[in-house]
Amino acid sequence: MRRRPRVIIVGAGLAGTATAIRLLQFAREPLEIVLLERRHDYRYAGVAYHRDGNPWDHVFNIQAGRMSAFREDVNDFVRWANHEADRSGWSAPWSDFTFVESGPAPRRIYHDYLTDRIAEARLEAYPDVELVEIDGEAVSLDISGDHAEVSIRQSPSDGDADGVMPTRTLTADHVILATGMELKEPAFATEVLDHDAFIRHPYSTDGVRRLLAIPAGASVVIVGTVLSAYDSVALLLRQGHTGTVHLVSKSGTRPRTYPEHHEHGVVRLPAPTTLFEPYQDRTEFLARVQAEWEAACDAVTTEHPDIDRLIVTERVAKAWEPYLPRVIEQIPTGELRQLLQEFSTQIASLRVGAVLYTTSIVEHAMESGQGSVEFVVGRIDKVAPATSGQLDVVVVTEDATRVIRADFVVCNFGREFDYTHVDSPLWMDLLAKKLVTPHERTGRGIEISSSGTPLRPSGEPIEMLSAIGVMREGDEIVRNGRTGAFAFNLAAIKNHSIVVAAHVVERLELDRDGRAALHRSLTADEATHDEFEQAVAVEVKRLAARSRAARERLDAQLVGLLRSGRRIPAATAEQDSRLIRVAVNRAAVRRLTDISVTPRQLRRQLGIANDEEAGYS
Ligand SMILES: Cc1cc2nc3c(=O)[nH]c(=O)nc-3n(C[C@H](O)[C@H](O)[C@H](O)COP(=O)(O)OP(=O)(O)OC[C@H]3O[C@@H](n4cnc5c(N)ncnc54)[C@H](O)[C@@H]3O)c2cc1C
Repeated sequence: MRRRPRVIIVGAGLAGTATAIRLLQFAREPLEIVLLERRHDYRYAGVAYHRDGNPWDHVFNIQAGRMSAFREDVNDFVRWANHEADRSGWSAPWSDFTFVESGPAPRRIYHDYLTDRIAEARLEAYPDVELVEIDGEAVSLDISGDHAEVSIRQSPSDGDADGVMPTRTLTADHVILATGMELKEPAFATEVLDHDAFIRHPYSTDGVRRLLAIPAGASVVIVGTVLSAYDSVALLLRQGHTGTVHLVSKSGTRPRTYPEHHEHGVVRLPAPTTLFEPYQDRTEFLARVQAEWEAACDAVTTEHPDIDRLIVTERVAKAWEPYLPRVIEQIPTGELRQLLQEFSTQIASLRVGAVLYTTSIVEHAMESGQGSVEFVVGRIDKVAPATSGQLDVVVVTEDATRVIRADFVVCNFGREFDYTHVDSPLWMDLLAKKLVTPHERTGRGIEISSSGTPLRPSGEPIEMLSAIGVMREGDEIVRNGRTGAFAFNLAAIKNHSIVVAAHVVERLELDRDGRAALHRSLTADEATHDEFEQAVAVEVKRLAARSRAARERLDAQLVGLLRSGRRIPAATAEQDSRLIRVAVNRAAVRRLTDISVTPRQLRRQLGIANDEEAGYS
């Protein structure tokens, strides 16, 4: 018999790592946290940050100051990069670079950052709260009574002489799915997937090697015109590319460049009330959207003249998030899916920008008049081999069909958001067993509860499962109005990791009776008492504390507070005291994950800002 509960986290990219860190921080009782990863090189990195797929020139999509893994400690990443990181082996210009909040940072160092932060969390965990790293792929999951069984296919290095991978089963009390993006093969390129001139995965080790080997004068077509396409073209230009590069996409959307000292901010705007009216048809709805959008942009421009014009759309998109769930309710399901399909790239580009480091080199190449970078707006119908060994890219534009002959075609991400189409053995198994349900309203990701629990087709939550990251895209859209990349990027993952880790710890620390009692009682009168408020403030600090000594001190303070409370009854039984803790913890988690404020505002609001930040306006 196991002596302590076990949680298995499937996937050790950002989402899995961030959740493991939170579990190590939050658990007060013995716990085994198994962090399972099918690709050794992706551990503590995932596809977005692993070293071999990210040359030094690939910088974060967003500013370095927004890459902290801790929402309540916005400067953590920049502080780490400037003062803690081991820079031996770093390439110029980064080896003696001073990182600033609004500036760039190379993606590949995120792996070191996460590695350091999980090591710290491990060291600072309570006794018998332990992290176990296992390499292997979860291929199926069974729920049996009060535990789950995960079948794990061992890593290729463990295979026998015939390449057959052994499988083993691990039992767990809770399983967290943090499997990241699912890839979609491009239908237009089926003939050339294995062609030497077709680079399908520009973020893979092989893809980067092939990109770097492209001759300077070669003609290149890049599929896509937003952030990852910019990564590829910037990489080519930085190594002196002189041949023509075509960037092709249906919408022609390009990333906006953030102004130099850009900071994230939230403005309050009136609700776009006409969008709450019944949906008639797409044209009529889009006309209302346009009118409301222009009015909102005008309001920001006149009422906040200090806000740079370049980020007005970002402020409006953020301010609208709380209203969007009500707007979305009006839109019939089929229409909603169509609108997301058609506009999600544009929405993302209104909401997020890119740093100058990435965009300036591309824009310079476009403006230099040498014609080295050209944008093409159109749908790629087909990529076919030409007899010359090159590739023909057939693009249907508004008024013609154009064939671009290329020496190389780089195909950036194609993400499969419809989980009925993904080909991962684990997801196919979960769907077949009805342990998860495709998201009905958006067709993106799966149905999920507010605490991150997947729902069966009947709506019943699978209590011992949680999900974090991109599979929650549809839910983020309809529940929180988070659209575009914001439905599943770092910002969303940070919040998911807090909510899921707190939920798992609560679940494992309360027995079944305790959970039943919790549903009947408590929480109703929370926040009405001073003692409760004080307790929540201490709990927020405890959850945010990275050192065990600080957590122990805050824990003792919390216990003292709850015992001395007049309106919170002194715990007469162990169970009562646990239930009160749960109510306090839930309120603290809600505050830590409040997305209506920026991380910096959040710190001040929670009373955890340092002196320098407290004076920050
Ligand atoms: C190229 C790229 C660049 C990006 N840059 C940024 C950026 O600069 N800033 C930002 O905020 N966001 C960025 N993003 C968005 C990005 O998706 C998130 O920031 C984040 O990395 C996603 O983390 P994740 O853990 O959900 O997914 P991943 O990082 O993909 O991790 C999932 C992990 O699960 C593993 N896995 C999957 N299935 C199994 C299984 N069955 N068994 C075991 N292991 C499994 C995978 O191997 C993988 O390592 C970028 C995305 C991409 C693709």
